[in-house]
Amino acid sequence: MTSDSKAPRRLTILGSTGSIGCNTLDVVEQLRADENFEVVALTGHGNIALLANQARQHRAQLAVTSDERHYQALKDALAGSGIEVAAGRSGLLEAATRDADTVMAAIVGTAGLAPTLAAAARGADIALANKECLVSAGDLFVSAVRQGGGRLIPVDSEHSAIFQCLEADQRHALERIVLTASGGPFRTYSREQMANVTVETARSHPNWSMGLKISVGSASMFNKALEMIEAKHLFDVRPDQIEVIVHPQSIVHSMVGYSDGSVIAQLGSPDMRTAIGYALTHPRRPALNVERLDFAKLARLDFEAPDAVRFPALRLARTALERGGLQGAVMNAAEETAFQAFCDSRIGFLAMADVAEAVMDEMVGHGAALTIEDVFHADAEARQRATDVVSRIEKAA
Ligand code: NAD
Ligand code: MG
Repeated sequence: MTSDSKAPRRLTILGSTGSIGCNTLDVVEQLRADENFEVVALTGHGNIALLANQARQHRAQLAVTSDERHYQALKDALAGSGIEVAAGRSGLLEAATRDADTVMAAIVGTAGLAPTLAAAARGADIALANKECLVSAGDLFVSAVRQGGGRLIPVDSEHSAIFQCLEADQRHALERIVLTASGGPFRTYSREQMANVTVETARSHPNWSMGLKISVGSASMFNKALEMIEAKHLFDVRPDQIEVIVHPQSIVHSMVGYSDGSVIAQLGSPDMRTAIGYALTHPRRPALNVERLDFAKLARLDFEAPDAVRFPALRLARTALERGGLQGAVMNAAEETAFQAFCDSRIGFLAMADVAEAVMDEMVGHGAALTIEDVFHADAEARQRATDVVSRIEKAA
């Protein structure tokens, strides 16, 4: 929205204390000399000391904790700073509606949907890391951005890659998009081996350093499942145009195939700051201090077909794409519930997909989402049903 590069670019970060949020502030710091970012609002959940430090360091107007129980602690931490403090859902909405040009959507899960929608509706450019917005609300989310008049720029590394490969105005010749997946820590595990893994092993991603949810999602490939649905809505492609290929080195971030047989790929070190920087300064490329690829050291790049039997999440994403309607919202909500149950040691790693599949089948009759309220209702119902399925699995164990 800001065309003059010298004018301050007002930025709000929803979820500034997370992995993407911290990387975003690092990029802001790196670009300080060139870009003149002005931080409007920052939000976090439980890590109040970090949130308060960030707000002071970046001179935010407003700091918000989404957990109301931490309101007083945040107020105390920012006493005398002149920084406004708010909490809870209303605080998140306040942060989203302050007049930032760009809103980095970096909350994890459906908790980010309402504030990101509010930012989109008032016309902010949305730098979207919080893929669950698109998985749950799909076309409704895309039309909220369109109606607001802002831009939607992906931050997810795969989708940033595709966005970069697509920009040559050759949409008419687009044949397929190929999402790369690292395969996660269990790429070579049998299902028997996966049955007994712990959260600690599941979160240990071989290449990327990320938040807990997405790390476990990389191990189960549910993250890739969400990304397939994210890609459909971002790039308006048919489900059969979306491919997934396992690429253990995470150097090729994704690819686009064209009608002449050409495939354009975007490569880089596995460092989210490249995609974040691109989203913040698009259409210009920022100068970033990230590791450069040394092809001689890399020596090889491997690719292998994904295994939908060991990783049923990929099959469930195809089902959700084919069924359409509210199945994305249902899959996402059921999986978030199952993920929490896995973290609480109530169910095993493989049961996460069983829970998601059971709830998707139970709710297959729910039609299309006409309003955002339909999405919130389906989300709540899927969570309730998933909780019931988790209890049944627990009892049977
Ligand atoms: P994270 O867990 O590190 O951080 C999540 C942020 O959301 C934190 O600021 C936290 O305080 C906030 N938060 C948590 N629960 C909340 C709630 N109930 N209400 C409001 N705020 C809440 O997560 P992350 O890894 O930074 O991921 C954020 C989003 O970006 C996710 O949607 C993820 O899929 C996506 N993403 C992350 C990466 C990555 O490298 N980490 C890469 C691609 C996409
Ligand atoms: Mg990704």
